Amino acid sequence: MLVVIIVLLALALGFAWLKIGSHRQAVQALEQAIFRKQPLLSEDLPGSAGTAWERLRRVSNEFISEFNQLQQQRTGQLAQLEATLGSLQEGVLIVDANNTILLANKAIQAISPRPAHQIIGHRLELVLHSATFLTYVEAVRRGRAQPQQEVEFIEAGRTTWLEVTGSTIQNQAQSRSLWTIFVLHDITKQKKLEAVRKDFVANVSHELRTPLSVIKGYVETLVDGHGEIPADDRERFLKTIQRHTERLNSLLEDLLVLSRLESINPGLKREVVDLPGLLAVIIEDYQARPAAAGHRLELSAEAVPALGAVNLDPLKFSQVVENLLDNALKYTPKGSRIELAARVLNADDVVVSLGDNGPGIPAEDLPHLFERFYRVDKGRSRETGGTGLGLSIVKHIVQLHGGRVWVESELGKGTTFSFSVPLRVGGK
Ligand code: ADP
Repeated sequence: MLVVIIVLLALALGFAWLKIGSHRQAVQALEQAIFRKQPLLSEDLPGSAGTAWERLRRVSNEFISEFNQLQQQRTGQLAQLEATLGSLQEGVLIVDANNTILLANKAIQAISPRPAHQIIGHRLELVLHSATFLTYVEAVRRGRAQPQQEVEFIEAGRTTWLEVTGSTIQNQAQSRSLWTIFVLHDITKQKKLEAVRKDFVANVSHELRTPLSVIKGYVETLVDGHGEIPADDRERFLKTIQRHTERLNSLLEDLLVLSRLESINPGLKREVVDLPGLLAVIIEDYQARPAAAGHRLELSAEAVPALGAVNLDPLKFSQVVENLLDNALKYTPKGSRIELAARVLNADDVVVSLGDNGPGIPAEDLPHLFERFYRVDKGRSRETGGTGLGLSIVKHIVQLHGGRVWVESELGKGTTFSFSVPLRVGGK
């Protein structure tokens, strides 16, 4: 009897041992399938595993396939997000609670010394050097920031102005960790334009103030003095008022011309023009003027016949030559020689130059000559009715024609202003 019991026990133990072995094999197969994220096949399970394992295999396979699908979706979304952020003009930056950069798109390169992918994982303060920005980051994190903040970044001597908008985002994985996202919009161009506009308004006010205060002063004297002012003085006062009124008038006229030239539709009326003929008419007209009586005005005819017809706006073109001629007459002493010349350059452009043998212009003034209101000798310019806008108008008209303007000058020897216009003969 005992022997039978022992045999039965041994058989039961052997059977249990076999079962445990097959379960261990099944667990290993399931582990491998989950690890590789590949479905578990029936043949991977030992034959003795049983129906419960078959059910577990099917459920596990459903999980694995669902996981693979989600993984694919996530990769696709990430690639899409990366492409979208990469193509944005605005910089996008995400930092964690310790100011470590988690995400930076390509546009961040405008202010960062290193490419975006090289700054991820680094601390913000070591990458972007702006105390204002770092203070804003802290304020956003504490929920005490303005909706937007203008920040100036100076990197490698280059200044960039950005309008920064920041907001906090809750990190889904670690609910207590707060991330902050920033969108950085480049406003450098607007800032520069704003500075130009402010400068311009200040300059115009300054230019208007002098003649207006002179006119006001003399008018008051005339009104207060009634009939007591001697006729000679009255005449002198009225002439001064007239001179300053004329100055105001030319200033306004030049400002209007400039504003029209800078408008969206500057009204360029191109036509095919006989350039040598046009230059000859301008020179003839000036030679007859009393202002040119003491000067020698010449037209260099050398290359002119080769020019033929050029496609340009004759009125505006004439204004360029006339402004340069007026200056040459104003800023050179009597007896000076003024020469208008034209030649074809590289078969593409016609270059017109106006040279004089006057006093010349100091080298340090040359780069600024075409700026509005820039004058070398302020007194002389005002005395001769100059507005400081003539060369600015010249530059605008030449640029509208697709050309460029430049100046060469040597003190004591003279000055030559030149401008080019593309030579498009025949068509409009
Ligand atoms: P303005 O109304 O004062 O003449 P412009 O813009 O025409 O203004 O000229 C700017 C300045 O350039 C002048 O004030 C003058 O100092 C200088 N300039 C222009 N042309 C000559 C020239 N041919 N010789 C010497 N200086 C000149």
